[in-house]
Amino acid sequence: MTELAPYAVSEVNSRGRRFSEASPSGRSEFQRDRDRIIHSGAFRRLEYKTQVFVNHEGDLFRTRLTHSIEVAQIARSIARRLNLNEDLAEAISLAHDLGHTPFGHAGQDALNGCMKAYGGFEHNLQSVRVVDILEERYATFDGLNLCFETREGILKHCSPQHAAQMGELGERFLADRRPSLEAQIANLADEIAYNNHDVDDGLRSGLITLEQLSAVPLVNEHLCEVRQAYPEINERRVVHETVRRMINTLVTDLIRQSGANIAAQNLSTLEDVRRAPALIAFSDELNAKQRELKKFLHTHLYRHYRVMRMSAKAQRIIRDLFGVFMEDSRLLPTQFQTAAAKDEASRARVVADYIAGMTDRYAIREHKRIFSVEEDAI
Ligand code: MG
Repeated sequence: MTELAPYAVSEVNSRGRRFSEASPSGRSEFQRDRDRIIHSGAFRRLEYKTQVFVNHEGDLFRTRLTHSIEVAQIARSIARRLNLNEDLAEAISLAHDLGHTPFGHAGQDALNGCMKAYGGFEHNLQSVRVVDILEERYATFDGLNLCFETREGILKHCSPQHAAQMGELGERFLADRRPSLEAQIANLADEIAYNNHDVDDGLRSGLITLEQLSAVPLVNEHLCEVRQAYPEINERRVVHETVRRMINTLVTDLIRQSGANIAAQNLSTLEDVRRAPALIAFSDELNAKQRELKKFLHTHLYRHYRVMRMSAKAQRIIRDLFGVFMEDSRLLPTQFQTAAAKDEASRARVVADYIAGMTDRYAIREHKRIFSVEEDAI
């Protein structure tokens, strides 16, 4: 294995865990973080949570689980090439969506609306809450007791108001510091993964077409290349050959540009990384192209009437559930009742935790169990 760059996160420069534990044998601290994330309940639930499409719409669409695995794959490739901590980049990637509600962004928006009077709901903060508090697996502490650098990477964004309440994790947002390069990589690997798989899933669903997509330069240049090289192949292969070229172009560009940014800074420690501007970045050219693609997806896929209908339905489910549990906490499962009985704000947070932890299908079933009087709903 090549040696880590001196400014990479390592076991030597790590700020460690909140509760001290004996060092793992046979694996690194960051491998242990990754393993704890994979064995968590919240990670398993990602299989039945969606981003754009609802889980039961089809077996071939991405779920948050397959998305997180794709993000980890991309992040690891980039981290390895830049001699950074691959295990940390992987751990952050696998955990980055743990706090997401059911039904993707529609669910998050609805829950945030419900929680307005109680401090709001934000999926990044919720991911930290999952790994710091909500997972109940260890005898002597709540959460997974992950290393500081893993938790810092999971907290991608944070408002100054929330940052002030987040202790050591919030510091960088108030002091205008950057997270590790590994965290920056996981963040952009997320972007590469979802833009490309939304193209793939969007085409598979029939909501967007290759013809429409040929108006997007990043897609069109690769699409033309594929069609020219393989005029006989079927549409599915054309799509895959195009998407894999797009991912490759973005990853290669990111490695090249970030390598140049790092070289220009003369970094020698992790502290230098925190003080420098964000160094993991695409070139201006690719940035502009990616923006075009995002704009396209926004207009033609995320705002497609069939997606909007599902989102509206999803938001109604979340709002109904929140309302009914706030009105009568006796309807909550037993394990939530004590905390919910304290006061209104605590109850709201408990209800938000319960709802955020639901998978798409669980939320649909729970809604039916509570609101439907049909025989099969009980
Ligand atoms: Mg993501």
